[in-house]
Amino acid sequence: MDHFTYRDGVLHAEDVPLPLIADEVGTPFYVYAAATLRRHYRVFAEGFAGSGALVAFAVKALSNIAVLSLLGKEGAGADIVSGGELFRALKAGIPADRIVFSGVGKTRAEMKAALEAGILQFNVESEAELRQLAGVAEEMDVAAPLALRVNPDVDAGTDTRISTGRKNDKFGIPWDEAVRLYTEAAAHPSLAPRGIAMHIGSQITSLMPFEKAAGRGRDLVTALRGKGCEVASLDLGGGLGIPYRQDGEVPPLPSDYAAIIRRLTDDLGVQVIMEPGRLIAGNAGLFVTEVLLQKDQDGTQYVIVDGGMNDLMRPALYGSHHDVQEVAQSDAEPKSCHIAGPVCESTDVFLRDAALRDPKEGALLAFRGAGAYGATQSSQYNTRPLAPEVLVDGERFAIIRKRPSYEDMLSGEAVPSWL
Ligand SMILES: *Cc1c(COP(=O)(O)O)cnc(C)c1O
Repeated sequence: MDHFTYRDGVLHAEDVPLPLIADEVGTPFYVYAAATLRRHYRVFAEGFAGSGALVAFAVKALSNIAVLSLLGKEGAGADIVSGGELFRALKAGIPADRIVFSGVGKTRAEMKAALEAGILQFNVESEAELRQLAGVAEEMDVAAPLALRVNPDVDAGTDTRISTGRKNDKFGIPWDEAVRLYTEAAAHPSLAPRGIAMHIGSQITSLMPFEKAAGRGRDLVTALRGKGCEVASLDLGGGLGIPYRQDGEVPPLPSDYAAIIRRLTDDLGVQVIMEPGRLIAGNAGLFVTEVLLQKDQDGTQYVIVDGGMNDLMRPALYGSHHDVQEVAQSDAEPKSCHIAGPVCESTDVFLRDAALRDPKEGALLAFRGAGAYGATQSSQYNTRPLAPEVLVDGERFAIIRKRPSYEDMLSGEAVPSWL
């Protein structure tokens, strides 16, 4: 469910008509609905009510500090994958003891910053990382709280480009090494293992892989305890899928997901941690762009818009589909066209064979499902300024990231004096 609806023939974000935002910030832009972000967080968290579980939002999905602050106030923690994301999460007021640090490679500086902040746990992905973390913690004279991210060898049935839990994917510690590494870490004075972590992939639309992975996690917790190890947390990662097509497949409900996880973990005596990203942010955001012109390429109709693959990369990167909506409703007959951006790449096409009724010059188009992995993956390729981000809350809206000027964009560059 989202809060982007037509009123009097004009698409609104909550109570704000999108053309009003376009007038104020220009196009293209991202817009997020606070009501949808809150709703998605609450629906997810409610499934775990009373269990003491931590919902750590995957910051890489949508990392604007206004969004992190909103979710933090709802009780969310943060799943981070870099020192930059740590900085953001703390800046947004998310308490350090609700932050988990994931990722297959962390620098010493990042480890140090996270230890200084006092995060809940590092999710360690290899024996080498364990050794490096021990080194940093030893220098600081602390014991690093950590979970071992294990690879459960579960095929999530998702696109191979976003699968992470099969044994040849680069992520996690091989299953049969987990017990040895955990017991070694427990014996190390600078390491404080507190749990197991996993994350099997993204945009997963069946509950079975989650059930399998959680079951394997449960077995591992039991096995570790059998060896005398203490296990306080079980991090099951993110990955629950969302509907990207209004007329398409309906992914599992968060409440059904929660029921399955709780059945496997409620009696285990661990703090369950979840790291949803897409589920919370995906359908809380639109990417809004303006039609520049129409172009007939030997019988193929192209609608060229002012947003490009540098702004919303998912179609070019993963072949992802985003539904499009015309901001002004029209009674004209729908016509088939390809919607493409202005970037000098053949892959800069958002949608092929879209049905648009009135894509005239200056018309606004909104791509749905753009809240997660949209703005965070954008770049300034072709020296295009990053699209601004706008947060709507009821009748109010605010620019939460402004469009940089060309001066801003070049401010870090310099021509050496010897040139
Ligand atoms: C990307 C990622 C997530 C979030 O995945 P979603 O599919 O957005 O829920 C969670 N945990 C880890 C370790 C990740 O890499």
